[in-house]
Amino acid sequence: MLFYRLKMLTALTTPFCVLILAMPSVSLADPPKSSSQKPAIQEILLAELADDENVEDVERSEPRREVPDMPSAEALSKAEEAAQAPKPKRSPKPKKVAPNIDLKEVAPAPTPEPPKDPAIQESPSTEEPVAVADADAPEDTAPEPEIKGPQPAKNLALLGSEVLPGTSTRLAWSSGIQIAGLSQPTPVLVVNGVNTGPTLCLTGTIHGDELNGIEIIRQTMYDLDPEKLSGSVVGIPIVNLPGFQQGSRYLPDRRDLNRHFPGRPNGSLADRIAYSLFENIIRHCDMLVDIHTGSLKRTNLPQLRADMNNPTVAEFTRGFDRMAVVHSSGSPGMLRTAAVDVGIRSVTLEAGESHRIQEHQIKAGVNSLTSLMEKQGMISRMFVWGDPQPVYYNSAWVRANDGGILFSKVKLGAKVSKGQILGYVADPITNAQYPIHSNSDGRIIGMAVDQVVMAGFAAYHIGTEAKVPGE
Ligand SMILES: [Zn+2]
Repeated sequence: MLFYRLKMLTALTTPFCVLILAMPSVSLADPPKSSSQKPAIQEILLAELADDENVEDVERSEPRREVPDMPSAEALSKAEEAAQAPKPKRSPKPKKVAPNIDLKEVAPAPTPEPPKDPAIQESPSTEEPVAVADADAPEDTAPEPEIKGPQPAKNLALLGSEVLPGTSTRLAWSSGIQIAGLSQPTPVLVVNGVNTGPTLCLTGTIHGDELNGIEIIRQTMYDLDPEKLSGSVVGIPIVNLPGFQQGSRYLPDRRDLNRHFPGRPNGSLADRIAYSLFENIIRHCDMLVDIHTGSLKRTNLPQLRADMNNPTVAEFTRGFDRMAVVHSSGSPGMLRTAAVDVGIRSVTLEAGESHRIQEHQIKAGVNSLTSLMEKQGMISRMFVWGDPQPVYYNSAWVRANDGGILFSKVKLGAKVSKGQILGYVADPITNAQYPIHSNSDGRIIGMAVDQVVMAGFAAYHIGTEAKVPGE
């Protein structure tokens, strides 16, 4: 079993972890802090994931349970209750109708916030508008289409605007934390389908240097025809606009936005931005895919990070065909964790590496989101071959045991076998070459790009196929 291999790995790397205490700080090379604080059994049961789920997050992660996680009817109905419970009430206030824009056409940037609506800006509580506004739809909106057959959709009320059924538009979200005169609204793309259905939200670039998600969201949304869509899709290609502009993972206060959800209205800068996003947009979603990439010069095979111990989330992952799914229970403050806590089915989609636009990774992301929408009954695809399933992985990192320059002999996605040499670390001064061996049979689902590494650096993320839930 995977976790036995992890145990061996931990034993193998422990002496080196002690060594690197005296070395320059490399965050993921740090020894697990829990080694002296938590029971040893907990430490060895945890797979180490890179980037958004870094070593510390994973130390807090629950191991995946052995029993397949098909949701029971009871669990699903509970989850449905949870999903329905926290939805805020409809706002009776009339809102402006969003212009219908063909997203494929070139258009000016979205206008800043609609006229200031205190109910939306200041107190997003029960007075907030929600995704669906029906009987109270404002008089100045178009009449509801009277279509028989599939249920006609309602207006989508978001960010102070009403998006009519069968239209798409560009809105703008402002977290209200900037200097007012310099405030830059963040574009939000919305497609409200002509028929009723779930609301899928796509968030990208919560870490400002992770770029593939921007293009994944663009391609996914610009291909949607509102006349053929059931439900709605809300895309925020660049959540962390200040970080994006500076090429930085973090917010201007050096905080990681993806550790502050659902946020607090009176907390730190990150808390406030998180709160604004969560209350104004995320709470209106039924499903959420938060798109990331590897970090710290690591790259990821396109993969989902999902809490497979949560039956509703486990079921949700089945919609992403062919995608690798890696269990991670998530940490407090992550967007997907906060969203799951309020009943929104959520996963993180990891694709590629930071600072880059990678066509192959983008294509995989777009394909899996298209598949998801099809599985959720939102669209129908003309050509579907079979019913490909995601591939579920348990995973473990292989660390470099020596410092030097890492040269990989394997490629991302490669199948590897136990004992195989994955790469070498070359010491530029002594000319010594240290091979790094695979600790298991499996597939490279994430890896460091060639670079200078210190002993303990997590270099290869090896996935071993696990049982498909429910089979
Ligand atoms: Zn990220």
